[in-house]
Amino acid sequence: MTDLQPFVAGLPKAELHVHHVGSASPRIVSALASRHPDSAVPTDPEALADYFTFRDFAHFVEVYLSVVDLIRDPQDVRLLTYEIARDMARQNIRYAELTVTPFSSTSRGIPDAAFIEAIEDARTAAEAELGVVLRWCFDIPGEAGLRAAEETARIALRQRCEGLVSFGLGGPEKGVARPQFKPYFDQAIEAGLHSVPHAGETTGPQTIWDALNELRAERIGHGTSATQDPRLLDHLAEHRIPLEVCPTSNIATRAVADLDRHPVREMVAAGVIVTINSDDPPMFGTDLNTEYEVAARLLELDERGLADLAKNAVDVSFLDPAGKAKLAAEIDAYTADWLRR
Ligand SMILES: [Zn+2]
Repeated sequence: MTDLQPFVAGLPKAELHVHHVGSASPRIVSALASRHPDSAVPTDPEALADYFTFRDFAHFVEVYLSVVDLIRDPQDVRLLTYEIARDMARQNIRYAELTVTPFSSTSRGIPDAAFIEAIEDARTAAEAELGVVLRWCFDIPGEAGLRAAEETARIALRQRCEGLVSFGLGGPEKGVARPQFKPYFDQAIEAGLHSVPHAGETTGPQTIWDALNELRAERIGHGTSATQDPRLLDHLAEHRIPLEVCPTSNIATRAVADLDRHPVREMVAAGVIVTINSDDPPMFGTDLNTEYEVAARLLELDERGLADLAKNAVDVSFLDPAGKAKLAAEIDAYTADWLRR
């Protein structure tokens, strides 16, 4: 905990890189496991805390998949989504673009229309009851290949989903070349969706160039390896292509050796727009407030610097102009009020 902790806790924030299933906190997993007593996942909160203590990356994947297995029907999807918004409201996250992987659910037998109805119902309820505005990024799970790409594009384009704003690509990068997904991104962009693939998290800068040149990325998920290529950093700065930086996630997955060596400083020094995000927060033992405190330490920010960081996220989000102006004004008012105390 830092002395900025109370300021960060109350600061209105926007989150642009956070995953749906990856946001299932022990509280939510317990609720889901109670609905499916036949699963191996414990329902008792203490046992769950143990269950969420990862021995290594393979164990993390195992636990993640056991949570995926708890999402079996539209009610599970609705519960997960709404309860994520409740966890966001507690942190004063006012707007989030949640990365959702419809393929994980439709390939497990949830019809796509029912899946979309469930997330949309949670979205409208979260906005009305919790004051959290949600939008969706439908992402291709890269490890599932072109079949998943085809299915994700089909759901994104054929189903009417009001909250959908962008199209993404996640999963492992090694052995999953970005250019093969170009036709699906082309379709999504043509239909008015924004392009936000993950790139340069676990592979080098070429993956980021591919995301820019082949997938026409408007923001980059992670982009950690961008600092290995000065020409790329210049390009990102010049074209105002933001990076969605997730510091603690990068340590948990060993994309970066330790926090003090995180390249976020070099990104900012090069003039690249940086946003701070939590990725799979409960799975990495973090939340967005903690990530803001980490950023404050790494970038030596005070309250004003943190407010600017929050406004960066609002500015490069896919929220409508009126929504952006309102949230930016809230950040300014909160910060001015805090500094006057
Ligand atoms: Zn991610």
